[in-house]
Parts: sequence; structure tokens; C-alpha cells
Amino acid sequence: METEKRLEKLLDITDGSICPNCLGRKFSDILPGPGNVKRAESLIETFKLKKSTVECKICKGILEDLEKTADYVEEKIKKLNLEFSTILVGSRLPENLLSADEKINEILNIEVESIKKEINRELGKILKKRFNCGVDFENPDIVVKVDFRKSKPRVWIQINPLFIEGRYRKLVRGIPQTKWPCRECKGRGCPRCNFTGKMYPTSVEELVAEPALKATQGSRSKFHGAGREDVDVRMLGRGRPFVLEIKEPKIRKINLKKISDEINKSAKGKIQVLDLKFSNRNRKVEIKTSSSYKIYKAKVKLKDKIEPSALEKLKSLNLIKQRTPKRVAHRRADKIRKRRVIDIRWNIIDSRTFEVILKTEGGLYIKELISGDDGRTKPSVSEILNTSAECIELDVLEVG
Ligand SMILES: [Zn+2]
Ligand SMILES: [Zn+2]
Repeated sequence: METEKRLEKLLDITDGSICPNCLGRKFSDILPGPGNVKRAESLIETFKLKKSTVECKICKGILEDLEKTADYVEEKIKKLNLEFSTILVGSRLPENLLSADEKINEILNIEVESIKKEINRELGKILKKRFNCGVDFENPDIVVKVDFRKSKPRVWIQINPLFIEGRYRKLVRGIPQTKWPCRECKGRGCPRCNFTGKMYPTSVEELVAEPALKATQGSRSKFHGAGREDVDVRMLGRGRPFVLEIKEPKIRKINLKKISDEINKSAKGKIQVLDLKFSNRNRKVEIKTSSSYKIYKAKVKLKDKIEPSALEKLKSLNLIKQRTPKRVAHRRADKIRKRRVIDIRWNIIDSRTFEVILKTEGGLYIKELISGDDGRTKPSVSEILNTSAECIELDVLEVG
């Protein structure tokens, strides 16, 4: 009985100009499916209705024209020459169409699926079939956006980034982690940078990204490292984790083994990448949260000669209070951080030079731990050995 009453009202409101999708949708809470068209068919049969032949008053024909809309989408995707395996559809509809649809629900006092949801889903189904791809609500490769506010739907394709993660080793000093624009010209090119626009000829980022950009035909890339080392510091051991984000890739099914080989060949002697694998947006955030510990190897030069036994004092280094170092003060807030030295060992090279292997909590500035940074880092190697100390070489051995 409820069905019949609702149907009568609905046909009254729409003058019978209603498409099967809109008709079925208004009964999605009480009639079995699957699908709104199926619901409409059973209503048409039960109540001996005439199928409407004029434009649907609720969706204005959008739902019946979805195949045509899919043609526009297909045209666009083919023009972009995209390769993808998952999509998501989003749409914009005229305001008055949305409010009229809601108004009907109010009059009938029902709660059923919104027209927008149905359009997105139904168009998604058509595209899924045409492109033999999946629908992904969380991380789709591409998002198809259709604007139905003009008589001819307009289509946009948002190509989501591709994430690749791995670890890098930096085998030589003098390479920054990311591309460093020239200080003088801010990247435009000037005599100082030899018209390269860069402070350094290359960077870990560029060495890693170039082969990946070429293979994916991406528009640009972003490099996310699990922390960074200074330009003059090597990154050895098992390497530092990173996530490479490729923006607007046209190709996603790339051979990472091949890319890895290409990077390692072209960057031979400079950097090396290990264990490349496909990753996701969450990992990009995860790897940035500071690491639990780090292991360093530092070569220390002292001003005064020292007895080997005096180095035993190094064992007293534990909790370090570190005011933001002078050399980074221009870009970091001035504050005091406390970090621990977890372990320290040393090898004597000569009476004024030794090498330390340090295991510390992440975020401790090592060069300043050694020099003391004019009293800004306390205690320091310089302070406890009672002579000026300088870190002349630094390598990161492990990022834990
Ligand atoms: Zn309709
Ligand atoms: Zn310049």
C-alpha cells in the first residue's frame, strides 16, 4: 500500500516524466534490487505503467545519457594517452536540480540515495567496463570529474601521483639531497651559478627522479627523505629511506628493477638506490616523522694534542642540550632541544685526530656536538676534552 501511495504522489509531482533510474531510486529503501532500473521495471509491471518517453523531470536526462557522457570521458582519456588501473568518478550538478530532488524526498518523507551518488556510481560502472579497470574510493589512479551544469557535460581528468619508495646511499660529499636553487638568482640563472640556476650541479633528488620521470612521463616530481644529511656528509650503510612522488604520471606500470639499474648506472660513484618499490601517500608522511636513532662516523680534529686515555671521558656524553646551531639559525626557530648519545666508540688516528662512531637519538646536530658551537651545545666533545674540536668529515651509517 505504501508503495502505491508513494508511486501515485511521485507520478503526480513529475507528471509521469521520470526515467527508470530516478523512479527506482525513490523506492530503493523498500523494494529489492539489484539496481534502480530493476526496481523501476518491477513497478512498471506491477502497476501497468506506461514508460515515459520525454526527458526525466528529476535528472533532466543525465542518467539516460550517461553512455554519451562516457564517450566524452573516453575521448579525453585517449587524448591524454593515459594508462591506469583504478578510477573514481566525481560530478557537479546544477544547484536547482539537487534541491528539487531533495524536495521530492521531503514531500514523500523518504530517505533514499542522492541523485549525485547514483550518477557517480552509474558512470563509474560504464567506465569500469569500457576501460577494464577497477573503482577505488581511497586511492584511485585517476579521478574523472564531470560538470553537468552546462548542457554539454565538461570533463576533467585528475591524474593522481605515483609514489615510489626506496633507500639511497650517497657515496661522495658535495651533493645536496634536493635540488638547491641558486641563492643569487633564485633559479633564473646568473654568472654565479654558471647559468644553471642551481647551487650544485646535481642532487640526490635529480639523480633519482630523472629516470623515473622519463619512464612515467610525469610532469614533475617531489622528493621526500627520512630526514636529510648536509651537502658535505655521505650517507652510507643501508642508506636513507625516501619516497619519490611523481606528479601526473601517464604510465604507472613501470619496471622498478629497470629504473633502479638505470639510476645506479647513470649516477655511478655518486649515489645508489636500493629496494625500490611502489608506495602510497601515507608512507610519504610516515617516513618524515623523525627516526628513532642514527649512527654516524665522524673524523674529529683537535687543536691540542691529547693522550689516548683522555678520550675515555667521551663515555660521559649522554644527555645533550642543544640550542639551535648558528649555521641553521636563519631557517630554524631558536630553541633548546635535548637529545641523547646512546653509544660512542673511537679509533685514534694520531695525537690530534680520531674517529668516533656515534649512535644518537634522531635530531642531534653532530657537527655541533663535537665543536660545542660556542657553548650553544652542552656538553660537547670540545668541552669535555678541554680543547677546540672540529668535525672534519661526517658520514651517516644508519638511519634507524
Ligand atoms: Zn532521471
Ligand atoms: Zn644563479
